[in-house]
Amino acid sequence: MAVTDAFGRPISYLRLSVTDRCDLRCFYCLPRDYRGFRPPASWLTPSELAQAVAAFAELGVRHVRLTGGEPLVRSDLATIARHLSALPGIEELSLSTNAARLESQAAALRAAGICRINASLDSLDPATFARITGGGDLNAVLRGLEAARQAAMEPIKINMVMMRGINDHEAETMVEFCLERGFTLRFIETMPIGSGGREALNHYLDLEEIRQRLDRRFGLHPAAMRGSGPARYYQVGDSSLVVGFITPLSQHFCASCNRVRMAVDGRLFLCLGEEADLDLNPLLRGGADQQQLVAAIHAALQRKPERHDFHQAPERIIRPMSALGG
Ligand code: SAM
Repeated sequence: MAVTDAFGRPISYLRLSVTDRCDLRCFYCLPRDYRGFRPPASWLTPSELAQAVAAFAELGVRHVRLTGGEPLVRSDLATIARHLSALPGIEELSLSTNAARLESQAAALRAAGICRINASLDSLDPATFARITGGGDLNAVLRGLEAARQAAMEPIKINMVMMRGINDHEAETMVEFCLERGFTLRFIETMPIGSGGREALNHYLDLEEIRQRLDRRFGLHPAAMRGSGPARYYQVGDSSLVVGFITPLSQHFCASCNRVRMAVDGRLFLCLGEEADLDLNPLLRGGADQQQLVAAIHAALQRKPERHDFHQAPERIIRPMSALGG
């Protein structure tokens, strides 16, 4: 049984950022001239990460998602994955990626224990894709997704951040793209995290509008998904495609939040809408044993806030989204 927080929510899911760097520059995530990366000396090594994750596992965390920044820019990602997938209690290891470097890495990562991926893909138009990502190569991403499919990563979930006037006309095309390939599709509302996230609020779109549009075109039927997390899922017509809507602003899902996040330097974030609560780095490097780590994390989990306040204080989170992953 996972440890519960002060509001009775079991915490069974850790999102672990393995780098704050990224090879893309999505304007809503990372400001183009961003220089505030953490120095690598503060980054935890694969064995320090494993030591921290072992403490989370003792508290009942069962699913770890590797995120970033872009996890694939770390050359030792497969080593990290092997360490974590071997830990007692960790039942599932997944990856959030932009897939730009996945083509050459998918098979090795699958062998290292990463069974499923979430991949960002906001446009199928090369020019729009390049505009959103600050020059990204759509074809490299498409090849990366195909390699993940060949490597039997399953499910492959496509995350599309919806922005009015930028990519909202592509919802139907993306549905067809995912339908053809057996991917799951999730639409995400922009969140006011970092200056890029606040800029993106100018393009904010309530996803109910997209849901109604897709319902008219394809017919949507409410669907359940295993470990469905924050998304509300619908089956598309009588096809096997499932689309999800992640609506942190228009309908927050804090009451069922089961997750915490750790940055690559060991800072623990209890909520996407809060700054760090606990720094595990001095504990790990000061020789704390497993029970001391477990006790510190357990105490921190009791301070997890009841909900984010993106509406009341959209200016609050100054770190870019890339520092921690979604
Ligand atoms: N690089 C990896 C990727 O592309 O998935 C992992 C990190 S990325 C920060 C994780 C997810 O956060 C992506 O799907 C991205 O689109 C989303 N994201 C970043 N900034 C956001 C924002 N301001 N609002 C909503 N989603 C955001």
